Amino acid sequence: MTTARRIDGKKMAAELSEKITRETAALLRDHGIVPGLAVVIIGEDPASQVYVRNKKRTAEACGFHSVQHTLAADSTLDAVLALIDALNNDSNIHGILIQLPLPSHLNEMQLTQAVAPGKDVDGFHFINIGKLASGNTGDAFVPCTPAGCMLMIEAELGTDLSGYSAVVIGRSNIVGKPMASLLLQANATITVAHSRTADLPGVVRNADIVVAAVGQANMVKADWIKPGAVVIDVGINRIEVSEDGETRSKLTGDIDYASVCKVAAAATPVPGGVGPMTIAMLMANTLRAARLASGLGLN
Ligand code: NAD
Repeated sequence: MTTARRIDGKKMAAELSEKITRETAALLRDHGIVPGLAVVIIGEDPASQVYVRNKKRTAEACGFHSVQHTLAADSTLDAVLALIDALNNDSNIHGILIQLPLPSHLNEMQLTQAVAPGKDVDGFHFINIGKLASGNTGDAFVPCTPAGCMLMIEAELGTDLSGYSAVVIGRSNIVGKPMASLLLQANATITVAHSRTADLPGVVRNADIVVAAVGQANMVKADWIKPGAVVIDVGINRIEVSEDGETRSKLTGDIDYASVCKVAAAATPVPGGVGPMTIAMLMANTLRAARLASGLGLN
């Protein structure tokens, strides 16, 4: 019985954040530039508030100028657009993030497309999506979650995935589609599976690389996994568990981690896998935005 390597996203993210912190200090010392990140949160979704707090804390730890704009849940579209416009024109701000989900009266597409492409550190603007899809990633912003997944896959298999087959489960614009683009760019042979896919276990069984981004607790079972596969779990699901006669809630991913680890070569845990890497990649994108906006090359 094999036991998969645990891909330690928390450790990788800490190392990446340390590197970003060093580069941020050098940017200030050599060019007098401080990367600025603005996070806009509309409404009071509790999970979003936790995410935004973590992003702000990490941005400050990296040495960034970090601002948070908290708007009331009933803010008008015009009010939010006016704030985005002001941030687009603020030279101290290099990255703008609109925390999702939005209150239902606001249109996600309208707001994400209002962010200047050069400050779109989430990689949601059509210009950045187009650059990624066409393989022109030189000055593009790639969505943070798939970018973080890619670093974890590269740490296991290297940067050239020629000959590997990859299955991405989920086709969202935030995770599934950009993940597929990144894997394709690295020469993997990709399949994007989703809720209408027939025989999902059979499809996944062919994959050397599995990325699960569905939002269904423990959906991917050990007998779906090809022996020796690398498995990346994007899902974040809150479930109730009974322990010692008590019911408590805990986070779990889309893969049945304990059983999958008996078959896979390596797998990411939840928590401590993709989540921390997502935040670290947001910092990497913000530093990148500051360098590009200042006419400096990327190092
Ligand atoms: P989404 O709801 O936009 O997309 C889910 C995708 O799963 C859809 O494409 C759908 O077709 C597919 N799907 C649904 N049921 C399926 C089934 N039975 N079989 C196969 N495919 C199915 O979600 P999303 O925004 O892409 O997020 C997916 C998960 O990843 C969620 O749990 C979310 O919380 C998590 N997430 C985590 C991070 C992170 O930083 N760790 C970031 C983003 C999203």
